[in-house]
Amino acid sequence: MKNKKLNASRIWKHFEDFLVPRLRLSITDRAVYSHLLRHSRLEGKARLRFSIAWLARGARLSTNPARWAVRRLIAHGALRLVERSKAGHLVEVRLPDEIRATRHKMIRRRGARPLPRCLDFEQDFLKTRALRHAIHVRERGRCFYCLRRLAPMIRCLDHVVPRVSFGSNSYRNLVSCCLQCNSQKRDRPAGDFLRSLYRERRLTDAELTARLRALDALASGKLPPPVPGRARLQPCR
Ligand SMILES: [Zn+2]
Repeated sequence: MKNKKLNASRIWKHFEDFLVPRLRLSITDRAVYSHLLRHSRLEGKARLRFSIAWLARGARLSTNPARWAVRRLIAHGALRLVERSKAGHLVEVRLPDEIRATRHKMIRRRGARPLPRCLDFEQDFLKTRALRHAIHVRERGRCFYCLRRLAPMIRCLDHVVPRVSFGSNSYRNLVSCCLQCNSQKRDRPAGDFLRSLYRERRLTDAELTARLRALDALASGKLPPPVPGRARLQPCR
């Protein structure tokens, strides 16, 4: 990994157009990778030592999502873990075109792992690809908020009650939505955000009512993610 003169614009295009869709990186993964790349390769350093607290602060995330994103990026081969100690993580940050092309096959196989039949209500639905995918499937390819049709590349998962307000990663608090709604909602209550979509005429009167009902149904656990070819997931007893 030589520190030749890098073309940042080329790297960023490669990242957005190739790496993000190929590895299906989430918003969090993208924020973490961008932050690490900016502080390593773009500054001429192949390796970077950092603490999760530093990373979370810089990428404006809570510590656990930042930690999980680092794990996922290591699994994808976007980062190579050189050392982990009390002093933090020492990683090599790979450029998008340095990540081996064969990786996506492994990731797809992992993604095919079946879901458990019985699910804990408060289970972390960001933990595995299969669980994250189940949330997208539940929304049937539409943004939970604005109802726009979603392509896999422009969809993400959103916390209805934001992490900063101690919202959980359970299926009662995660929805599949478009990138635009994800960035516009920020830390606002979901009901207020839906009303703002109505004011902007992105939702009709009837759609707003239906969305507010869906929000209540979600919070009360009435929208468990469906699993293809199986009965609906049941909470563990
Ligand atoms: Zn949307």
